[in-house]
Amino acid sequence: MQRVDLQNFTREELEAFVRSLGERSFRGRQIMRWIYQQGVEDFEEMTDIGKAFRRRLKEVAHISSLNPLAIETSPDGTSKFLFPLGDGNSVESVLIPHEGRLTLCISTQVGCRMGCRFCLTGLQGFARNLTAGEIVNQILAVRKATGSKRITNVVLMGMGEPLDNYEQVVKAIRVMEDEFGLGLSGRRITLSTVGLLPELERIFSEGIRFRLAISLNAADQGTRSRLMPISRRYPLEELLELCRRLPLPPRERITFEYVLIAGVNDSVKDAERLSRVLKGIRCKVNLIPYNEVPELPFRRPDPERVLAFQRVLLEAGYTVPLRESRGQEISAACGQLRGKVLKRRGSPQGTPPSAHPSGPG
Ligand code: SAH
Ligand code: SF4
Repeated sequence: MQRVDLQNFTREELEAFVRSLGERSFRGRQIMRWIYQQGVEDFEEMTDIGKAFRRRLKEVAHISSLNPLAIETSPDGTSKFLFPLGDGNSVESVLIPHEGRLTLCISTQVGCRMGCRFCLTGLQGFARNLTAGEIVNQILAVRKATGSKRITNVVLMGMGEPLDNYEQVVKAIRVMEDEFGLGLSGRRITLSTVGLLPELERIFSEGIRFRLAISLNAADQGTRSRLMPISRRYPLEELLELCRRLPLPPRERITFEYVLIAGVNDSVKDAERLSRVLKGIRCKVNLIPYNEVPELPFRRPDPERVLAFQRVLLEAGYTVPLRESRGQEISAACGQLRGKVLKRRGSPQGTPPSAHPSGPG
């Protein structure tokens, strides 16, 4: 019989699981605390659980974990972790220290199906969804690797489209927020999506909390659907219409992410249009100058152009943080570290790394 991974369970599911083994519900909460708060990976260490039940657990269940294959740290303190998944696939997470906070950017899929033209992850295609355990384990593994430092914020902004892996992502957020799990406040969890409309609407009925970021990247349907094929299925106008009626918590705003690409979406006209179409939506606009990748023809605009774009929005009264590019030195945009390591090892996407890693170069 295959042993179940306890990290794929929410608290309710774990309680039901221990009951199915003849134990009382609180055992499930005890186990959760061991896993998420103590970082225990072995049932033997769960000292407040009887020997017999520990033995039984070992027969039917296991606790999964991730271990980084590579960690790259850039001079600005950003670290990128590459995690092998055991089936030949791998995912990455990025740890970003800033202003007393420690934000971890995690992945939700191996690759991505959305195929955004400017994105390396999109270019590499899709291998599979991550399980809830694999999503949460990125946080546990980075916490272990960084020792005593506390991860204060989590952003679902690494590889993959979170709403395209709906069930597992919702489960993972439940575990992150659970007081017996990671105990993170929903205000410190940000989910970034291209805007899959049915899932976007549905996730607001799950009773979980998170901050919503939407990758907009264009202010008109033509440009957006050229950059992001998903916009053909879910047009910009419908996306913005849904944004107007999402039941956001009081005082909460949607963050629209806008990657600025030279000559594509970075003109003053684009900025003016953006300012117009966002009118009436409680939001801020996060400007991200494009991170160039050798595989793709897109270029980052000159700083003056970025500032001119920002100025239009500021003058219209928007909050417009300009995201400085962190970790550029190490391979900043999503998918790049993984691409690099795989290349180094001479192995294509989705197949196991070569048996003869040749080292750097
Ligand atoms: N799939 C989700 C979350 C992961 S992508 C989404 O698209 O929202 C996270 C962000 O990285 C997106 O806003 C995307 O537009 C941005 N991004 C992708 N490639 C980039 C690049 N080369 N330079 C700058 N930002 C990029
Ligand atoms: Fe996928 Fe996001 Fe990249 Fe688009 S930008 S391909 S949705 S990871």
